[in-house]
Amino acid sequence: MTFAGDMGGSALDSLAKALPPGALLTDPDLIEGYRFDRSNAAHAGKPVAVVRTTCTSDVQETLRWASANRIPVVPRGAGTGLAGGSLAVDGCVVLSTEKMRAITIDPPAGLAVVQPGALNAEVKASARAHGLWYPPDPSSFEICSIGGNVATNAGGLCCVKYGVTTDYVLGIEVVLADGRALRLGGRTIKDVAGYDLKRLFVGSEGTLGVVTEATLRLRPLPPPAVTMVATFADVGSAGRAISTIAAQGRPAALELMDQTSVQAVEARMHMGLEKQCGALLLGQSDAGGDRAAGEVEAMVAACQAEGALDVAWTDDESEGEQFMVARRMAIPAVEALGTVLIEDVGVPIPQIAELVRGVERVADRCETTIATIGHAGDGNFHPLVVFDRSDERAVERAERAFGEVMELALALGGTITGEHGVGSLKRPWLAQRVGDDVMAITRQIKSIFDPLGILNPGKAL
Ligand SMILES: Cc1cc2nc3c(=O)[nH]c(=O)nc-3n(C[C@H](O)[C@H](O)[C@H](O)COP(=O)(O)OP(=O)(O)OC[C@H]3O[C@@H](n4cnc5c(N)ncnc54)[C@H](O)[C@@H]3O)c2cc1C
Repeated sequence: MTFAGDMGGSALDSLAKALPPGALLTDPDLIEGYRFDRSNAAHAGKPVAVVRTTCTSDVQETLRWASANRIPVVPRGAGTGLAGGSLAVDGCVVLSTEKMRAITIDPPAGLAVVQPGALNAEVKASARAHGLWYPPDPSSFEICSIGGNVATNAGGLCCVKYGVTTDYVLGIEVVLADGRALRLGGRTIKDVAGYDLKRLFVGSEGTLGVVTEATLRLRPLPPPAVTMVATFADVGSAGRAISTIAAQGRPAALELMDQTSVQAVEARMHMGLEKQCGALLLGQSDAGGDRAAGEVEAMVAACQAEGALDVAWTDDESEGEQFMVARRMAIPAVEALGTVLIEDVGVPIPQIAELVRGVERVADRCETTIATIGHAGDGNFHPLVVFDRSDERAVERAERAFGEVMELALALGGTITGEHGVGSLKRPWLAQRVGDDVMAITRQIKSIFDPLGILNPGKAL
């Protein structure tokens, strides 16, 4: 796909006129802040402008203008993506939804109607004010947007029991590359009228359209969680305990940290975590009362049966939350060790121990540090490949390790990404995961919605 490289100032003038005052940014210093995401990609393109949309019609104007001028558009929420999905491309307009933050809660219907720039945490807080809960909880929930969550089909800690973003999206409004706005799905819990195009857009990483509104299903707030922490001498025994726990029920969260990530968190947070343990497992039950106690007792027993070094549990919600904070802080803590390439592979539950051990072998082979954390109950792991960006050889070894971890997951019957998306970082491995026929059909679908290929080119497929 070739784009009109030199659009000239008059084309941007016509866009500025179609938008509210101040919506179009062309100052290079301001634009610089919209080029990268949190993937630690070394390169990103240079946008010609950023549009901070305030409503659906701003998005429509921007996309009509971009289609007329063949200008690539990179949709952007909060820029916390880890797969390079919102990295700018040369000559693009970055369409930022950061100003679209409205949230309306409808308690009788158990729904939230949300503009895409609202942060996940803002939706949770608004729902909570009505005794309701929006479950999907990426570790980045305080800093990532609902639009980004929908576009990546974000997961998180409680997904093992409550499902991922798509399970909560009842309806979306989405603007196509030609400026048409579609409403897909709606406000009903059940709806099988026509193909479920809404699900096609969830996880499409800004390549099919821009999400301008999401109608999200809410649940009643669960009882306070009971939290279990277990340490193991090695990840193999932790992996076996995870298999047992997953087979016997549905914890509200089941998270693993390996020794390197435990040590990184301890160095940053001084929480008294056991630095010499080979693995740390966190489990939660929010079943309430005796049922929660029973579920946690079963988790404790599974850990003890696999020779856990130490097992403790607490029904004090804030104490339990401190342990979950340790897990959520793992990425920032490991980032203190160097630049990090964040993996996101998934494997069937019985393959977890083999995956984690295999990652250790990759680290040895590639002479690089890899800290592994993961949503163990989903089999979704984030090996964090640490490297020194100023050392060319270290960069080469880290990139090799990044690829080898994906190859390992595929060999174990798994996937190259469980929740972060393909973005630009994982494109080279996508065909290996889904096959050539699926790739061809995916491209055909893309061309129906975005025939000029202006939406987030070079990402996701
Ligand atoms: C410390 C840390 C922890 C994290 N933990 C998790 C985790 O536990 N689980 C998880 O799933 N992710 C996690 N992430 C990754 C990231 O937060 C999620 O992918 C999140 O959904 C991205 O939201 P965003 O608003 O930052 O999107 P961005 O990074 O801005 O964009 C992500 C993708 O969505 C597209 N996009 C954004 N908004 C729209 C829109 N309105 N319409 C169409 N396309 C759009 C972009 O083009 C891009 O392809 C973590 C990130 C960090 C930094």
